[in-house]
Amino acid sequence: NDSLGHEVGDGLLVAAAERIEASVRLGDTVARLGGDEFTVLLEDVTGVGEAIGVADRIAAKLSSPFELAGEEVLVTSSVGISVSATAHDRPEDLMREADLAMYRAKETGKAHHRVFEENMGAEARDRLKLAGDLRRAIDGDEFRIYYQPLVVLDGERRVAGMEALLRWEHPDRGLLVPSQFLPVAEETGLILPIGMWVLEEACEQANAWRKEWPEGPPPMLCVNLSAKQMQAPDLVEDVSRILARTGLPPECLDLEITGDALAGDGGALASRLRELKALGVKLTVDDLGGQDASLSLPRRLPVDFLKIDRSVIDGLGRNPEDAAVTSAFIDLADAFGVTVIAEGIENAEQISRLREMGCKLGQGYHFSPPVPVPEVPWLRAL
Ligand code: C2E
Ligand code: CA
Ligand code: CA
Repeated sequence: NDSLGHEVGDGLLVAAAERIEASVRLGDTVARLGGDEFTVLLEDVTGVGEAIGVADRIAAKLSSPFELAGEEVLVTSSVGISVSATAHDRPEDLMREADLAMYRAKETGKAHHRVFEENMGAEARDRLKLAGDLRRAIDGDEFRIYYQPLVVLDGERRVAGMEALLRWEHPDRGLLVPSQFLPVAEETGLILPIGMWVLEEACEQANAWRKEWPEGPPPMLCVNLSAKQMQAPDLVEDVSRILARTGLPPECLDLEITGDALAGDGGALASRLRELKALGVKLTVDDLGGQDASLSLPRRLPVDFLKIDRSVIDGLGRNPEDAAVTSAFIDLADAFGVTVIAEGIENAEQISRLREMGCKLGQGYHFSPPVPVPEVPWLRAL
């Protein structure tokens, strides 16, 4: 069961079918199911290894460019394999298993095959159930926002802001953290309505805090945006509408964007960031020094804060490399007039190292974990 990665013309499909035919053994059947998917039926295989051999031959044949109407066309292929040990398995079950395996192969990237495993079915069912639950959760009032204070790293330890962090009070499974449901929310696109709910709810809360705030500048509200949200056509309009409706001054809102959102198309992204800046909001590059760090970011992009990932802060005091990375980020940020925030501070030692390096803002369990509104410690110094 093979899928070509793109929308392709009929000519290409015919050419691909020929190459697949040429890769299988005598007596095997190749059929096109519709779209860009093919099914290959191998009879009397001695084991899964033989099927993998055929899959590799198909992938190799498809990997050289196609010549079509004078153009060179490259395709990627993903192969899912399911093997039946008896003659009694139903063909539709085999097909469904091969299909699931193919989607797994697609997820792991180009030109790969995957063999069906029993737990794939269970996993797929779990994800489907979670997606259904997520849909219901939006209307069912099951999401909560926890807040973690951002603290000025000086003697006074004033609260400078709050980061909004999403939680899901699942009716059967209890309180879930983002890693347990965000991937499915991203995949299904449900992150868009959920993200807008977070933004609106948090802006309303921040505006209420602003009114109660004793003195000095009101706390900044930090809200995370995923890559998918950054690309949503209505993002700027939605943010603008939510600010107007909740009454939160734009300069009190800080949008946190991770490296993976910044990695994409530079031109479109930069203009999107400028549109957001034009609303008057602040922007943070989140998770710096995590998986995809780039030292050139702050100059290229109109951002206000750089947040150093907690994996780097974690190594401070133990790991000379992490100290060097932190100090380099702080110097770089200084040079570009950008403020550094250190994430994941868990002990006093880290605070003194960060202060020595000139880092002025931080957050972490040492000050407070993310907590629900009634427990937010914003009035006392931390
Ligand atoms: P993040 O933006 O990097 O948020 C920081 C994460 O580190 C939070 O995990 C927080 O609870 C945790 N943390 C804070 N201080 C410490 C510490 O001292 N030690 C340790 N070990 N951990 C600490 P959480 O709340 O599970 O959120 C995970 C991720 O989910 C966030 O990472 C963010 O990328 C994403 N996320 C959370 N809420 C939202 C949201 O409303 N929308 C979107 N798009 N993403 C969100
Ligand atoms: Ca964040
Ligand atoms: Ca992080």
